[in-house]
Amino acid sequence: MLHTVSSFDRIGEENAFAVLARAQNLAAQGRDIINLGIGQPDFRTPEHIVEGAIKALRDGHHGYTAATGILPLREAVAADLHRRFGVTISPDRVLIVPGGKVTMHMAIMMFGEPGADILYPDPGFPIYRSMIEFTGARAIPVPIREENAFAFSAEETLRLITPQTRLLILNSPANPTGGVTPRAEIEKLVAGLARFPDVAIMSDEIYGQMVYDGQEHVSLTTFPEIADRLILLDGWSKTYAMTGWRMGYSVWPEKLYEMARKLAVNSYSCVNASAQFAGLAALTGPQECVAEMVAEFDRRRKVVVDGLNALPNVTCATPTGAFYAFPNISRTGWKSKPLASALLEDAGVATIGGPDFGVYGEGYIRLSYANSTENILRALDRMKAFLERKNEG
Ligand code: PLP
Repeated sequence: MLHTVSSFDRIGEENAFAVLARAQNLAAQGRDIINLGIGQPDFRTPEHIVEGAIKALRDGHHGYTAATGILPLREAVAADLHRRFGVTISPDRVLIVPGGKVTMHMAIMMFGEPGADILYPDPGFPIYRSMIEFTGARAIPVPIREENAFAFSAEETLRLITPQTRLLILNSPANPTGGVTPRAEIEKLVAGLARFPDVAIMSDEIYGQMVYDGQEHVSLTTFPEIADRLILLDGWSKTYAMTGWRMGYSVWPEKLYEMARKLAVNSYSCVNASAQFAGLAALTGPQECVAEMVAEFDRRRKVVVDGLNALPNVTCATPTGAFYAFPNISRTGWKSKPLASALLEDAGVATIGGPDFGVYGEGYIRLSYANSTENILRALDRMKAFLERKNEG
């Protein structure tokens, strides 16, 4: 009998991967499946970035690098943050990590333990809650509401802070809702946080370059008053269509950086050297590829929102960030997860049920519009036919 630790009874996962596996399984059986489930750009990584990695391999970058990442890459991250937000961040506070997820893993490991509370957005990226519960901390959901255009509310967030609160997780632009929190709300939150100097903040800004309709992405890094307790999560996965490369970075307050570095040394040693050179090519090369991808997402966003609003008993608020739509399906007579499941099995359209992102996700499903316009239109046709058929039946 093996005696493993009980915290594994509490670890969760991402149902998007289970849906992906089921969709692939159905496709392998010959079914025509349109995948609007998984959250990754459908574009190829731009060629100059791929070349950066190939060149690094040819040049003999085959060994370990510093655990924190190669210096030119940390400098390029600092320069990119300066270019985008006008902030000055020392490369000595930048950590290169294997994917955006690793930053949340480290941050939650640092602050989570029994007796501690961690606040996280709900609906939100499922790994926040999973990791919080894994550490034994209490996961306190901050409701993200449609009537608030899926922005977080500063007032509601601040009201949930108690003496037990150690870490507050924020995510804008947001998965799964596509919500973007406006500047006024973020300023209100930062002002209110002055009353809670012992609370650390982790800002997940991985969709920071994907905003539409003139929306502004306000980075938490632009508020010097919280710099000594802010952890920035960002990375290459979404911005440069690099999900499979496993490239992310974080910015840490000085006193946490050393802890993060030790976690790196104790788990993965360093990020794949050639991938780091790809990351360098991405940040120092032309940025038109990002603008082109975002423009294409924007076109599809309009198609998906119009199509969803034309479905019987479905309404969809216009998302202004990321590449997700989060339609309200509560008036269809379906619960979210059975609907997502029936859409996959009966209509061949993979989506994710809102409750996979938290209890406040009931009444919604998530569609990723990182798929071709043609496929999106076909998926919408199928969803329409499915819902009309069920209405008649
Ligand atoms: N944060 C959010 C909000 C995400 O949606 C994702 C991926 O879907 C991640 C972090 C993790 O990104 P990565 O694939 O780089 O680990």
